[in-house]
Amino acid sequence: MEKSIQTDYISGIKELKLRKNAIILAHYYQTGDIQDIADFVGDSLALSQKAASNSADIILFAGVKFMAETAKILSPGKKVLLPDMNAGCSLADSCKEDEFREFIKRNPGRTVVTYVNTSAEIKALSDIICTSSNAVQIVESLPSGEKIIFAPDRNLGNYVLNKTGRDIIVWNGTCYVHEEFSLEAILKLKKENPGSKVIVHPECELPVRMTADFIGSTGALLAFTKKDNGSVYIVGTEPGIIHQMKKAEPGKTFIPAPPRDSTCGCSECSFMKLITIKKIYESLLYEKGEIFVKDDIIEKAGKPIRRMMEISEKLGL
Ligand code: SF4
Repeated sequence: MEKSIQTDYISGIKELKLRKNAIILAHYYQTGDIQDIADFVGDSLALSQKAASNSADIILFAGVKFMAETAKILSPGKKVLLPDMNAGCSLADSCKEDEFREFIKRNPGRTVVTYVNTSAEIKALSDIICTSSNAVQIVESLPSGEKIIFAPDRNLGNYVLNKTGRDIIVWNGTCYVHEEFSLEAILKLKKENPGSKVIVHPECELPVRMTADFIGSTGALLAFTKKDNGSVYIVGTEPGIIHQMKKAEPGKTFIPAPPRDSTCGCSECSFMKLITIKKIYESLLYEKGEIFVKDDIIEKAGKPIRRMMEISEKLGL
């Protein structure tokens, strides 16, 4: 897009935000230009916390659908906009309501812990929600004898299982972005950059996690690069986060972990990248892309989300 047109859209967004008392919440996987015009940038936990406590009339979510739905569930009185309704999530799609209901039935007596990357309907079937920032702590907060179903991400689920040693059955879902990282390419990069540190998201596969100097949610990876005394990092998550890493630590070097297929660009989340400055402008202007969640789902899904938020607050997360 031409720079002057981009600048016009950005001015228009600023004016619309003021006129309509709207805020923009953006996920770390958005492009840098979108992160820079957002009122708040964060990972799923921080964005949920922000969605639950703000005085805006309109929340525009620069992220994907399950995040906008979570905002609507937490703030049902507000108008929540998603600039492109096709911004879905392969992980959320890997857990369908009917199949999950059946899975719960086949494994009775287990507490259902689901990752925030799910539809509102799946959240409504859950006992408690978690994000990658608090998954381990949420599971640890449950009584020690409690048997658990963890859904939908199998890599995060197995990571939590190994960390906590709890009795957990893991749903077999995946995020296509985090499964794409090439172990060989990461090891090669590490060799070429002596002293570099590999930092990865827990949604990555086990062999990639085993190469890591640090594993954490997107927010935790960012915090780590701020406080760590290293200077070169190989970053195993969606590369949008590198925008914030570079802003916070301009003297450090951040290298995106390469995907298996170096021609596919698939370490970038194509769903996240559907959101553009132009679409944000149009969504705010025409108030299009409104998120609706049925009242009974808002009620049922709100409980496990709030339970997570209360525990996170108690633990200072
Ligand atoms: S990065 Fe993966 S989990 Fe996150 S929105 Fe994209 S597909 Fe879903």
